[in-house]
Amino acid sequence: MVTIKSNREIELMKEACNITAKTYEMLEKNIRPGISTWELDKLAEDFIKAQGGRPAQKGYPSGIKGVPNFPATLCISVNDAVIHGIPSKNEILKDGDIVSIDLVVEKNGYHGDAARTFLCGNVSEEAKRLVEVTKQSFFEAIKQAKKGNRVGDISHAVESYVKPYGFSVVREFQGHGIGKEMHEDPGIPNYGKAGRGLRLEPGMTLAVEPMIIAGKPDIWELEDGWTIVTADGSLAAHYENTILITENEAKILTI
Ligand code: MG
Repeated sequence: MVTIKSNREIELMKEACNITAKTYEMLEKNIRPGISTWELDKLAEDFIKAQGGRPAQKGYPSGIKGVPNFPATLCISVNDAVIHGIPSKNEILKDGDIVSIDLVVEKNGYHGDAARTFLCGNVSEEAKRLVEVTKQSFFEAIKQAKKGNRVGDISHAVESYVKPYGFSVVREFQGHGIGKEMHEDPGIPNYGKAGRGLRLEPGMTLAVEPMIIAGKPDIWELEDGWTIVTADGSLAAHYENTILITENEAKILTI
């Protein structure tokens, strides 16, 4: 179901989204060669709780028999991992890694969802370009996220921006509405035709999240039942914010 948020609900959304944004400011200062993804996760969990928030991904059901609920605050997906990587004491960041982090904070029953890909130490020019293009594809997309346009306008903007670079869009996962639920309608693919799909209305809150691969679009799931990696081993990047559709330009709530 697509929900239109009242002004009061939007104020509550902003509280959750602010904690998400501040958590990324904290994490950025701590991403360096030698730190484990588990340590980053612990820093984030403590920080979010101190701000009165709840890490909403922790305990999120897999929906698959035999696969445990997501065990951590952050999804941390390094290099060829695309999304849903599980933080681990054994995973130590190295110079040159690119580190995709996805985080959802809940406060007062509302959610704030964002993702970033960070550069760890000295990163190759090719990797930097992927990370920058992925981020920019979000900003190109939200130029289309305005009253009267359609979901397909957002989708098409992501795909058409990244294609000329020779990059691929992940097709199996997509952005989504967000509010009381972490995932609400509509789904927002990162590919598709302009002018199609649901019409955007003020009061919709959406998580727009390009997931972009430097090589071929195919992905695999690891045996942990969560981590999604590129099939060809090429790098992947992720960039996401929760936005609000208004009478004018979309407002970004998680920066
Ligand atoms: Mg997310």
